[in-house]
Amino acid sequence: MWVAVIGAGISGLTCAAAMQRFSPQTEVEIYERDQGLASRPQGYSLGLKGDTGLAVLKTLGLYEQIAAEVVTITNFVFCNQRGQRLLELPATGNEKRLTQRVRRQTLKEALLQAVGPTPVHLAGIVQATGKVLRVLMPSSRMGPARRRIT
Ligand SMILES: Cc1cc2nc3c(=O)[nH]c(=O)nc-3n(C[C@H](O)[C@H](O)[C@H](O)COP(=O)(O)OP(=O)(O)OC[C@H]3O[C@@H](n4cnc5c(N)ncnc54)[C@H](O)[C@@H]3O)c2cc1C
Repeated sequence: MWVAVIGAGISGLTCAAAMQRFSPQTEVEIYERDQGLASRPQGYSLGLKGDTGLAVLKTLGLYEQIAAEVVTITNFVFCNQRGQRLLELPATGNEKRLTQRVRRQTLKEALLQAVGPTPVHLAGIVQATGKVLRVLMPSSRMGPARRRIT
């Protein structure tokens, strides 16, 4: 089976890493429209929760790679535009709802390592029409690559 993962964001990389780990016989290729994996400014860090993102990383055996950088959130502070505190909410003791912040790029690098030999095609926009997947690579002089989805 051939699988095209469209987008090398956190979701696409996690999906490809999971396939590399649990279904290594599947032929997977990742297509990303950006020039690089750090091209898109989406904020410095991501908040991962115990019962969602953190659980996935632990299942994939990737938590240790980010553990050193993780910052555990103990409270949430809401400020106005002048930095004055409006509200402060302490974090609950519930392990599942615990939030750990990690640098987005650290997470992407760990995931990228986990996708192993999976090809990551950069600067290629994917368009799906019916069952045909069209990959528009700006560097391609042969016209767009096409692949039929099976
Ligand atoms: C400033 C900011 C702060 C944020 N902070 C948090 C946070 O703390 N916690 C949190 O959970 N979320 C946060 N988010 C939301 C967070 O960015 C998303 O949850 C996360 O990035 C989603 O990952 P994703 O892989 O699903 O999508 P994306 O990160 O958007 O990745 C999708 C990728 O697919 C590529 N792509 C799309 N269409 C095509 C196509 N047709 N062909 C090829 N490539 C394509 C895009 O270029 C992109 O790289 C924040 C967002 C912003 C903007």
